[in-house]
Amino acid sequence: MAKFPSSARVVIIGQGGIVGASVAHHLIERGWEGIVGVDKSAIPTDIGSTAHASDFCYATSHDHMACYTTMYSIDFFEKMGHYSRVGGLEVARVGDDERMEELKRKVGSARAFGTNAYLISPKEAKEKFPLLEEDMIQGAMWDPDAGLVIPRSQTAVGELVKNAEATGKLQAFANTPVTGLDIENGRIKGVEKRAEATSRLRPWSFARDSGAG
Ligand SMILES: Cc1cc2nc3c(=O)[nH]c(=O)nc-3n(C[C@H](O)[C@H](O)[C@H](O)COP(=O)(O)OP(=O)(O)OC[C@H]3O[C@@H](n4cnc5c(N)ncnc54)[C@H](O)[C@@H]3O)c2cc1C
Repeated sequence: MAKFPSSARVVIIGQGGIVGASVAHHLIERGWEGIVGVDKSAIPTDIGSTAHASDFCYATSHDHMACYTTMYSIDFFEKMGHYSRVGGLEVARVGDDERMEELKRKVGSARAFGTNAYLISPKEAKEKFPLLEEDMIQGAMWDPDAGLVIPRSQTAVGELVKNAEATGKLQAFANTPVTGLDIENGRIKGVEKRAEATSRLRPWSFARDSGAG
């Protein structure tokens, strides 16, 4: 195992989760190096939300950023070979007119924000999901891009971190809990991990400025 470094340009806390793994990948893609990733659990995480997620991607939302990031993620996971675009269905029962109105509003937002969701009839919904009682629903929203990260998003984490380490620009350390941050003038200049003499990681710029090691 690599020696724990005493300085770093970037420290990712939570390297074993999907966000930490994605941050490492995207920083390297943009030319960053000197990245140290730590996680108090395993990498991929075995305690974080990523270990519990249903791994479902649903692009439809009233929020532009959520639609954009989900469509980006779908494309990203698909290029990795880890996405199954099975589609997703939301139904409105007969008599639940408020729900039907909400589905119409959702489709309006979703299409304005660049997704491909549309309304379908009860018959079309049943064709997509034969277990549905057609008589019990008045309509449905179909999102053709919805699907699952396969086999698990933990697998994607493992692959992203392994590939990032292979570039030599990331060093990742599991079972390494961060216990504190050194903050000076509102900026983080060091990261403390549990025990040992090598417990401080300092972002390069601040280490140079302060001369501290
Ligand atoms: C039951 C369930 C179902 C879900 N289903 C879906 C779904 O279908 N679709 C969807 O998009 N989202 C779903 N989510 C949400 C999704 O899982 C999370 O939004 C996502 O996994 C968060 O990723 P993360 O990397 O931010 O956090 P995490 O996966 O929690 O990773 C955070 C990491 O930080 C580490 N850490 C924390 N503190 C420290 C510290 N002090 N020092 C070092 N390391 C530390 C943890 O060990 C962990 O590995 C679901 C969540 C749950 C719980």
